[in-house]
Amino acid sequence: MGLDLEVSSSSSSSHQESQLEKQRLEALELLEQRDKFLAELQHQKVELLCKLRRLQQKLKQSQQFAELLKEELKEEQENGQSIKEKLQKAQRKMKAMEKRLREEMERMREMQLQLRHAEEEQMDAGHVIKAAPATASSKEASSPQPENLSTSSSPSSGQEAEQLHQEREEQCLELLSRVVAMGNPEEKYSGWEVIGSGSFGTVYKAFDPATGQAVAIKKIDLQQQGCEDTLKEILVMREKKNPNIVSYLESYLAHGDVWMVLEYMDGGSLAQVISEKRIIVGHMATVCLECLQGLAFLHANRVIHRDIKSSNILLGQDGSVKLADIGLCAVLIHEQSKRRSVVGTTCWMAPELVRGEPYGPKVDTWSLGIVGIEMAKGRAPYIWKTKERAKYLIGKRGVPDLHKLRLPSDLCEFLGCCLQMDVDRRGSAQELLQHPFLKLAEPLSSLF
Ligand code: ATP
Repeated sequence: MGLDLEVSSSSSSSHQESQLEKQRLEALELLEQRDKFLAELQHQKVELLCKLRRLQQKLKQSQQFAELLKEELKEEQENGQSIKEKLQKAQRKMKAMEKRLREEMERMREMQLQLRHAEEEQMDAGHVIKAAPATASSKEASSPQPENLSTSSSPSSGQEAEQLHQEREEQCLELLSRVVAMGNPEEKYSGWEVIGSGSFGTVYKAFDPATGQAVAIKKIDLQQQGCEDTLKEILVMREKKNPNIVSYLESYLAHGDVWMVLEYMDGGSLAQVISEKRIIVGHMATVCLECLQGLAFLHANRVIHRDIKSSNILLGQDGSVKLADIGLCAVLIHEQSKRRSVVGTTCWMAPELVRGEPYGPKVDTWSLGIVGIEMAKGRAPYIWKTKERAKYLIGKRGVPDLHKLRLPSDLCEFLGCCLQMDVDRRGSAQELLQHPFLKLAEPLSSLF
């Protein structure tokens, strides 16, 4: 019994053991499966992470690519813009060139007319001066614009234009030689003394021994002023005689210079007087009145002076006031009423002139307004500025506020009429002659 019990207990314990073993094996298997599963999960996680990294890289690359595209697009837009701008600039240049060529053609016509006119006066009836085209002088970069000229007849290159200019200068020189008197002024006149100098030469005082009369002789360097402008100055001064314009007496061509003999003004220039004395309002009114008379005469004869300033206003000790230096004038021809050439002396130039816009005789009344400021304040506005800065300021705001200049009130009112930015509101010489300020005029003789 005891053995049976022993046998049965040993068989049940072995059964239990095998059960336990089985359970252990199952547990091991389960553990193994879990490890496998975990390993699988880990593997999948790593794969997912790799995929994610690849995706991130791709995304980054796409972003970089998009950035590049954006930049390229921007660059192209800018290029396109700059090409557009270049194109517009080139078009503007072409238009300006066309305009200039047209202006040069009109200038040719104008000079031809003047030459013919002078020729009729000077030459034998049968002599004909070959009519040839002209070109603008270096000083006058642009001229009037005719409406009926086509560009097809314009010179096609700078070289051609230069050649035409040379031809023109030669013709003017030829004509000059006919307009001037024969002989040598140095032999005819005596007592030579330098009294001034300008951009184009020297001015002397001399005497005519035959009459004892003092004369002013302006020696013009033809290289500087050019034959065309010199001829124009002589022709205009010879033909347009007026008590308010310095009289032309005669001229010579000697040693390659033109010697222009003029009435001698013994009071010197207004610029000299301004630099030495204070001028009273009555004298300012006289200067304005006399200059306006000279200007009204020139304008009625379709001449714009274009260089009115105190050094071109000459005084006589008898109280006379005369306009001088017609070298830069413009002659308006036919129905033409406007010019465009930017000439003159910067600080005295009218706004429309510095801006290169078409202009008429009222540029002279503006300049006279500047002379008014010179007389009252001793100098023209912007005189210490550079040419470019002065041009910019004149074109933009005209003159400084007249009321801040503390001018005599009558003068201030008169200058307000001369110095109008709006040309239509600016007085013409004829209109300004009616201004009440001029009633204050006093004889200038007391100035000396
Ligand atoms: P720019 O030529 O640069 O405009 P500007 O007007 O002073 O200068 P000019 O016309 O050559 O040049 O005159 C020089 C100076 O000679 C005048 O400022 C003036 O003092 C004197 N002058 C000129 N003409 C006469 C004259 N007819 N009688 C007396 N003095 C004169």
